[in-house]
Order: sequence, then structure tokens, then C-alpha cells
Amino acid sequence: MMTSLEKYNLLIDGKTQVPSREKYFDAVNPSTGEVFAQVADASQEDMGSAITGARRAFDTSGWPQLGVKERGQYLIKIAQLIRQEAKDLALLECLDTGKTIKQTTFIDVPTAADTFEYFGQLSWPLGGCVNPVPDPVESKTLREPVGVVGCIIPWNYPLIMAAWKIAPALITGNTVVLKPSPLASVSVMKLAQWIKAAGLPEGVLNIISSSSHEVSAELVKHPAVDMVSFTGSTRTGREIMRLASESVKKITLELGGKSPNIVFADCDLQTAVGGTLSAIFMNQGQMCTAGSRLLLEDKIYDAFMRELVTRTKNFKIGPAMSYETDFGPLISSEHRKHVLNFIEQGVKEGARLVCGGRIPQEEELRRGFYLEPTIFEGVHNGMSIAREEIFGPVLSVIRFSTVDEAVKIANDSEYGLAACVWTKDLNKAHDVSRRLRCGNVWINTYGGFYNEAPFGGCKQSGFGRELGLEGLLEYTHTKQICTDLTPGGKPLVSAWF
Ligand code: NAD
Repeated sequence: MMTSLEKYNLLIDGKTQVPSREKYFDAVNPSTGEVFAQVADASQEDMGSAITGARRAFDTSGWPQLGVKERGQYLIKIAQLIRQEAKDLALLECLDTGKTIKQTTFIDVPTAADTFEYFGQLSWPLGGCVNPVPDPVESKTLREPVGVVGCIIPWNYPLIMAAWKIAPALITGNTVVLKPSPLASVSVMKLAQWIKAAGLPEGVLNIISSSSHEVSAELVKHPAVDMVSFTGSTRTGREIMRLASESVKKITLELGGKSPNIVFADCDLQTAVGGTLSAIFMNQGQMCTAGSRLLLEDKIYDAFMRELVTRTKNFKIGPAMSYETDFGPLISSEHRKHVLNFIEQGVKEGARLVCGGRIPQEEELRRGFYLEPTIFEGVHNGMSIAREEIFGPVLSVIRFSTVDEAVKIANDSEYGLAACVWTKDLNKAHDVSRRLRCGNVWINTYGGFYNEAPFGGCKQSGFGRELGLEGLLEYTHTKQICTDLTPGGKPLVSAWF
């Protein structure tokens, strides 16, 4: 019996809308290869309507003039709706992205709700700082919303990325047009269905799904958009920068990485092995912060590798929808090919494959986009598997013997997103952290993100920050108001001519 698939429509100017050309694209479950939903495929006109709606809401709805507390109430309501529907949302995110249900239930959905709630409860008044200029001049700095913000997000953490952008953009008084990736739009389009229930004024938040890069690019080029907050690959980030330059838009770019995970001999070995596994194999390695280069000190090399490889081989690979599964599929068959090409390249360049590297052959995994977790040793930092972002479950292990050597290898990368240091010597850990050229360092842990703390990269990992005070201020611009209280005006100004 044919059952009709659920359709997800656009959120434009407060209304759920069928796309103007009535086109939809398929949402595919990476665990089975099956189509499970259809998502609105917006046209340029749809994107134009969303931008016009956001512009009108910014210019005339009174949204930017509302107090932080009043705007916060809407975000808190969105957080409540996410929590009410947490179970369904976790399943949708799992079906759409291939993230394990354990991960979507305990990480993605609660994290998205927490971010909306955190920014919704913000008590920080925007601006109002007085500058210490000489009397009798009074100088005040205000922080004002930038205007209409276009947010473009990748497929690896759709709900979390949407929350990280929407919540700080709205609380600071901007209006938003958000575009998810065509590879993973469903959870975000589900969120779009609830925005009406949250009571947000029309046009304040618009959500547009589309399979077309041109439609996405329209959000960057359009003169009515004041800022673009982009998360995605470095390659697309370059294009965003080029397109945004036409209208001199403010941009933030959260891009790719090739993060070093540095393990010193004086670490707690079991903890560091566990952390290393999470750093590279969580979400099947499809993380911007993946610790894809393991820098391992000579003295513990053999013992560490034995434990790492044994534990990797014990992963239960399977459908993301099962709570038994440790390791699900990759996002698409095309992406798996891209990762397999890197594995082939690694072998050609002389690295030793110590585990994984193949498509699992079990009958029940045949139709999904599975790939074994893969570890290469004998890697040197000039190989393509050590230089390029693979964005999959491939770990390159590089030996070192001194602290200076570790820092040199770690910094020898085009990227500068994250790094990790494992040692019981906290003085050494902090010294190394300061010498690393990247935006985030984790010490004796990996992958913690906090709404209170800024996250982002340097070098070709981009610029700008998400979360924390710095992330919040990205969505504001600075205005200084200067009042001269000199009686009769300042002679050099008032009597110059
Ligand atoms: P991508 O660059 O292919 O796509 C990202 C988004 O940009 C998608 O929504 C896509 O539709 C859109 N897009 C593509 N071409 C465009 C164009 N010409 N104009 C406007 N929009 C366009 O990235 P992806 O494959 O979806 O995601 C993986 C990448 O994201 C990895 O490189 C990863 O490191 C990065 N990432 C970075 C962070 C971070 O915080 N630094 C977080 C998550 C993912």
C-alpha cells in the first residue's frame, strides 16, 4: 500500500507556505537509503518574499524596539515547544541525518532547547556604556541590531546550528531568514511549523529550504539583507565572502577544520583513549571540530594504539534509529564516496591502514551509507589525509617526541578551529594551549560547548564567534552618541567659520 509522505513547507512572513512552483525535494534516511519525507524546494521568488517579510518586520513591526525581556519570552516559548516535542524531534533528526538516536535524544535536541532558553533569559541590557571622554562631552556607546540577518547552516548539526544562530540574532532585535542544508532540513522545517504557536510577530523569523545554491546565494547577495551568518565548508565560505562583498555586508564564517588531538605520555591513558574516540568518531566524524589528527607521544605509542584500535573494532555499526548502535551511517552515498577517495589517497601516499576503511558487508547494512571507522598510522603531516578536511570517520595518527615538535605539527595547518591536549601536567597543558593557533582548546576533555562561552576559529576556519558574549555581539553594530554640553557650543566647532 502506498502511504503519502509528510511534506514540510516554507515559513514566510508568519505563514506556512507551499513553494511557489510547488516543487519538493526528497529527504532520505541515510540508515536505509529510503525517502521518508518531502521538503519544500524554494525558488528565488520564495527567497525574495522571505527577505521582504524580514525587512518589513525589522523596519515597521517594532520588533527591534521591544525590550530584551519581551523578545526573550518568545525564545523561551520556542525552547518549551522543543522540549514538549523532544521525542519526535530526536527521531526526525536521526532519520534525516543518520546521527544515532542516542545522540539526537541526549545531545542535539536538549542542546537546541537550552540555547533558546539561555538567550531567552538573558538579562544583559544591550548597550548603554558611557565612554570616559573629557568633560563636558558625554559619549555613550549603544549596541543595536544589525537588521535582517541571513543564516545559512550545514547538514551535520541542523537543529543545534539553527538554535545557535536564531536565538542570539533574535534576542538582539534582528529579524532572520534561515536556510538549512538540502541534505538535512527536516528537523528545522518541523521547527518552522511551531513558530506560529510561539507567537512570534509575522516576518521576524522566516525559514526557507531549497536544493538550489542559487537560491541560497540570493540570501547573501540581496541588498535588503544586512548580515550573513554562515556555517559550512571553507570552499563555500570563500564564495560567501565574495558574494557579500558586492553589498559590503557584515559576515561571520564558521568553516572547516583539521584539528590536532595531542596526547602526551603523562596523560591518563584510558581517559585519553575514550576522549580520542569521541573526538574523531562521534557523529561518524562529521564534525567541524573532529580531532582528525592524533598527535601521539612516542613513549606511550604502542600501548595507546593497541587500546584505541581494539575499542574502535568493537563499535556496533548499525541503523541510527537503534539505541544499540554506536556508529551510524554517513549523510549520503556521495559523501561516502568522497571519504573513500581520501582513504584510497592515504594508502597511495604510504600511510598504514590499521583498521576500517571499507564499506561494511552485512546484509542489513547494504542499503544505508555506512563506512567502517578508519585509522591510519605512519602518517606525516604533509599527506593529504593530514592536511585536508575529510569530514568523515578517518583518523590520521602522527608520532612526536617533544612538546615543541607537537606544537609545530599542530600549527602546521591551513585550519585553526579547535585542538585538544591530554596530560596530567596542567602547566604544560596551558603553555601548549597558548602556543596553538586556533579558536578553541580543550584540555583533558573534548567537544564541550557552552552557551556562555565563545566558539569559532581562525585562519581558514573562518572568523566571528558563536555563543558567549562575543557570539551575541556579532549580531549587533556599535553606535556612539556624542553630546557636547559646552555652554554656547565649542569654539573650535561652533565658531570655526
Ligand atoms: P557546504 O559549505 O557545502 O554547505 C553549507 C551551506 O551552504 C548549505 O546550507 C548549502 O546549501 C549552502 N551553500 C552551498 N553553496 C552555496 C552558495 N554558493 N551560496 C550560498 N549558500 C551555499 O557545507 P556542508 O557540506 O553542508 O557542511 C560541512 C562543512 O561545514 C564542513 O566543512 C564543516 O567543517 C563545516 N562546519 C563548520 C562548523 C563550525 O562551527 N566551524 C560547524 C559545522 C560544520
